[in-house]
Amino acid sequence: MEQTLDSNSTKIINLIREEGALSRVEICEKLDIPQSTVTRLTNKLMKLNMLREGKQGHSSGGRRPVMLEVNENCFYALGIEMGRSAIKAALINLNGDLLSIRMKVTSGDESIQEVVSYVKEIVQDVKTQADVQKTRVLGVGVGLPGPLDETEDHKISPPNFYGENDIPLKHLLEEALELPVTLDNDANVATLAEKWFGNGVGYNDFTYVMTDIGIGCGLMINGSLYRGLQGEAGELGHMSIAFPGELCHCGNYGCLETLSSIPAIERTYQKFDKIRSTALSRVIGKRGKDIPIVKSKIDEAVVLGAGALVINQEFSLTEGSKFSQV
Ligand SMILES: [Zn+2]
Repeated sequence: MEQTLDSNSTKIINLIREEGALSRVEICEKLDIPQSTVTRLTNKLMKLNMLREGKQGHSSGGRRPVMLEVNENCFYALGIEMGRSAIKAALINLNGDLLSIRMKVTSGDESIQEVVSYVKEIVQDVKTQADVQKTRVLGVGVGLPGPLDETEDHKISPPNFYGENDIPLKHLLEEALELPVTLDNDANVATLAEKWFGNGVGYNDFTYVMTDIGIGCGLMINGSLYRGLQGEAGELGHMSIAFPGELCHCGNYGCLETLSSIPAIERTYQKFDKIRSTALSRVIGKRGKDIPIVKSKIDEAVVLGAGALVINQEFSLTEGSKFSQV
């Protein structure tokens, strides 16, 4: 049997997930929903095993209120990081707890079919280790190096990605894993992980800059990921900043990534024995002094964020969020 959650129910779940345990009265006040509606909806969510009653809260005169908590283990999501040199799969619950994680190193020479079979293998390991019912897994989120250059029929062409373009990855993974799959670039999903579980908790507007083999960026604006018209709003790494510059694997010249990605910095270091300056520091320049910069506190941001992408999608829809009653 399938249950469709209305928008007020998803608001209640999200509010408690973000703020912690709340009483019914607090939910009414914060969401401006009538008390009778909150009572009806919270009862329904408790029957669905999505909310549970926790400790008693502080009294403001009368009886001490019962606090409602999200049952973090009522649903799970699979988060996958498909990188150029390794793939990771993890199972997370609604709190973002990593229940199980596996990694497989790749050489970059594999075919997409081989990489998909590796994903299937490690996802199976993760599910076996965490021992959860398949019906409780909402779906699979995948973080990949951007820009994905995704077509309407979900074919993607990330730069320098296992030697292939126009990859029907969503279709291939859905067939292999028998679960709905959502793709996004790795910087976007890591931004979501920060917003949900890291330094971004409580902030609705921030920028996440990811620097490793490439340079990516996620933009959180008004509490939502901003993707731009073609989904490439945060592609900081492919901004041309050097003229004439080195040829980038995206086909342009002088991209930030050719100067300030970790491999580029290593090349510079080998050339000059020490890093004298990086393009990124020149870009941030004096303005950087006014901007608070914090380091990510999440080690596995991409897999966690990829899982969060699935949960976010399910809980953010105003209509049609479907949960199998279990
Ligand atoms: Zn480029």
